Amino acid sequence: MEITWWGTAGFRIKTGRTVFLIDPYLSRNRAAEPVQYLRPEKIREGEQIFISHGHFDHILDVPIIAGNSDGIVYCSRVAADTLISKGLKRKQIRVVDTDGFSVDFDDYHAQAFFSQHVKFDRWLVLKTLAQINVRLLRYLPMLRDYPQGQVLSWRFVIEDKILHFFGSGGSPADELERLACKETDILLIPLQGHTNICEIALEYVQVMQPKIVIPHHQDNFYPPISTTVDINPLIDGIRRECPRTDIRVMGINESIIV
Ligand SMILES: [Zn+2]
Repeated sequence: MEITWWGTAGFRIKTGRTVFLIDPYLSRNRAAEPVQYLRPEKIREGEQIFISHGHFDHILDVPIIAGNSDGIVYCSRVAADTLISKGLKRKQIRVVDTDGFSVDFDDYHAQAFFSQHVKFDRWLVLKTLAQINVRLLRYLPMLRDYPQGQVLSWRFVIEDKILHFFGSGGSPADELERLACKETDILLIPLQGHTNICEIALEYVQVMQPKIVIPHHQDNFYPPISTTVDINPLIDGIRRECPRTDIRVMGINESIIV
């Protein structure tokens, strides 16, 4: 399979002739780093689009992308309501409201698990508010109009490999232990939203013991709401605690074959 990282939690996965998308979000403001030159209007693929939760940096561009690709969007009820209010056709949505929901396609299998959002810690909130400062009113609608809803993690079985995607890092230990019952080959793990996110992510890797870890969401996609996260403590931690796990740090729009 080919895995392409679109920045934030966005991925394009290609297997055989099928392309599906996960949390595709390409819009940025002018201060964003790295620059994302792909525009949502130009994307015309994605037979299926899987969503982790309803925040703007996960679903803002989905009405445009799914509108062009005619893809089917799998998401929570809350995210579905947001997407419909932003113009996505109801017939393109499949609401996922059961833990363990699964669906088969010609080239792969997808399964959703109830998950949890990272709890923004007080230090990060204060720091972000100080940076946003008087511009809060400009950003308020984006935060208010895109409620989180039920968070979902997604397990895909592709070409006999298991790829597990998390869109936010709030999973308690029992959730991870349950998921670890099946061996994960490739773990896509988000690093944003908490001062100690590298420690949190390391716990995911320690419990799930994947063969490959791909960190994501560490980019500064929408300053001052976001910041660049230094993922080196995670890399060091994995090398120390999980030496058999391979870490692939991807550049924006870079593809790898696994
Ligand atoms: Zn979020």
